[in-house]
Amino acid sequence: MATTTAMNQSTATGGDLQELARRHLWMHFTRMGGYDAEHPIPIITRGEGAYVYDEHGNRYLDGLSGLFCCNAGHGRAEIGEAMERQVRELDFVTNWSYAHPRAIELATRLAGLAPGDLNRVFFTSGGSEAVESAFKLARQYFRMTGKGQKHKVIAREVAYHGTTMGALMATGITSLRTPFEPYAQGGCHVPNTNSYHWPADRDPLWAAEKIAERIEFEGPETVAAVICEPVQNAGGCIPPQEGYFQRVREICDEYDVLMISDEVICAFGRLGRWFGCERYDFQPDIVTTAKALTSAYAPMGAMIASDRVFEPFSEGTASFTHGFTFAGHPVAAAAAMANLDVFEREDLNGHVQRKEGEFRAVLESLRDIPIVGDVRGAGFFQAIELVKDQETKAGFDEAESETLLRGFLSGELYKRGLICRADDRGDPVVQLSPPLICDTEEFEEIEGILRSVLTEAAERL
Ligand code: PLP
Repeated sequence: MATTTAMNQSTATGGDLQELARRHLWMHFTRMGGYDAEHPIPIITRGEGAYVYDEHGNRYLDGLSGLFCCNAGHGRAEIGEAMERQVRELDFVTNWSYAHPRAIELATRLAGLAPGDLNRVFFTSGGSEAVESAFKLARQYFRMTGKGQKHKVIAREVAYHGTTMGALMATGITSLRTPFEPYAQGGCHVPNTNSYHWPADRDPLWAAEKIAERIEFEGPETVAAVICEPVQNAGGCIPPQEGYFQRVREICDEYDVLMISDEVICAFGRLGRWFGCERYDFQPDIVTTAKALTSAYAPMGAMIASDRVFEPFSEGTASFTHGFTFAGHPVAAAAAMANLDVFEREDLNGHVQRKEGEFRAVLESLRDIPIVGDVRGAGFFQAIELVKDQETKAGFDEAESETLLRGFLSGELYKRGLICRADDRGDPVVQLSPPLICDTEEFEEIEGILRSVLTEAAERL
């Protein structure tokens, strides 16, 4: 038993919370040694609309939607009420061999929203589990269809597909992988579509062709799937080239490889559509999603498979030998249904489509700051790549990145009231992914804070 007596949540004051957090809470991807009396842990205690508030009552514009997930905005009582009604009706039943009304209704609704024949919904509790499920499905699918050697997955460099050991084989960020070697076998990586540093005369479909080359190199009989985000998050909101996904689809068909669209971020309005693949007009075999499926009111993910991929599992004694206790949880499913009601009633997808140009223009207006290199993204999912020299596009070295991003930018943006992400998994970028309810007023606030902090950062160099 722990030696310190844990204090009841309701009786802890602000100061107590700091101390208790430092003593007991293990924060994810966090340098826990970086906190002390002078460097407090940011403790967020309340949320409303596009804003959150800390323990001292300071207000922050949540320019990251939690972690790319609070798309409908914070504090929507109606979603909580739907969850409460669900608890009263049926708190829990598993999806292992049983079904319940909310999971059935939600699966039906998602199948109706997803393009083409993406009709079969396998629930999970989050994004990594959805990706993990897609990889296991790809392997079992090929085993059941007589191509059992197919097991490898082709992913893109710097892409983030999750942290569980299976999903990690696709995550293309070396520093996230090396502490855990040996990880699951089968992950292969190809260049992503970040063309900012490409030579001007490069074939726009170069990155797509690299997938075909890699399949040939590995041996097509060993490759089960290609996984791509419609707009790649890590590396800074990297959109595809025109025709990229059409070419990837052709390559997958040519080599009998499943195409997985990882839409853990890109679905549910982030790109102004229900699903990111709709925006770029391609038809994947499997979609993985999570985050904004419930706008983060409850943890939930889903893997949505096509009729073709489901077909071998549809008869006789066949089953997908995989599952999670909490996946498809009735309370999470109720939250998702209420969240989708909000999306429809307020036309959040339409709002993103109407407003993304204005949001982008606000970020483009920062190009006069000498460290603003590229501005890229789609929908309410945009990034600014920072450079040392706008002319040469030269980046920062390791030490400069550390001082600029972690030492100054992240903390300063937060201090001035903006939560966003300053990241250098790939090139150094500042990422914005605000709730889909944001409008001109919030865009101007984002611009004002970014302008003052980036100008100061440029002067410090
Ligand atoms: N895939 C993508 C594209 C993601 O962005 C993430 C998380 O950010 C994941 C998978 C993993 O999701 P989770 O953190 O819910 O496990």
